[in-house]
Amino acid sequence: MSNIFQITISPNEGLEIIYTQAMEDLNDFFQIKWVRNKPRVCVVPDRVTIDALRDQETPKWLVGWDSDNFVFVLSKSSFETDSSHPYTDEDYKMLIKHELAHAYFRVATGGRTQPKWLWEGVSIFASGQVERWKKPEAFRTFLDNSDVYTEAGYAMSLLSTKFGKEKLLQLLKGYKTFSGDFSNLFRDVYQLELNYDTFNSLIQK
Ligand SMILES: [Zn+2]
Repeated sequence: MSNIFQITISPNEGLEIIYTQAMEDLNDFFQIKWVRNKPRVCVVPDRVTIDALRDQETPKWLVGWDSDNFVFVLSKSSFETDSSHPYTDEDYKMLIKHELAHAYFRVATGGRTQPKWLWEGVSIFASGQVERWKKPEAFRTFLDNSDVYTEAGYAMSLLSTKFGKEKLLQLLKGYKTFSGDFSNLFRDVYQLELNYDTFNSLIQK
């Protein structure tokens, strides 16, 4: 596989609007005013280029990722052929917002990207995908970092509904300087144990 890529700036009015709106929403969500050195969106033309950029054969569901100050998304014109997702404008908008939310997460936590359920859960919640995706009936797997796409966004949404989004930000910011077991930080912030019972009890309320 080649290691050479050609990148060109590619003004796109539709994507600019999506980007500007997403950044505004995420500034608000994360209480960050991101002005300088903002994340860049790179549109990747096809699956072959995704595989080359990631230096591995990627599954067809993978249509976006983030890397430092860049977010990469599969071109919408290749969605139907090169991904397992049907293309809709609404989902594409949320995909870009999801990847940008990862960039904000890094800023909020001082560069951390773990645990995976928190990393993905916050992006799924902040992007609005949680409202569009099917909600699980119970939480069973996300804390073990499996099935995070099904459960983690909903878990973050329930936490915020019950305790407010400020607490979630407090958790992320606290993580910046925290060392040790993440469940201790979670307990400090929420006065709750980090386990499935905690999250399942939020569903009923
Ligand atoms: Zn993600």
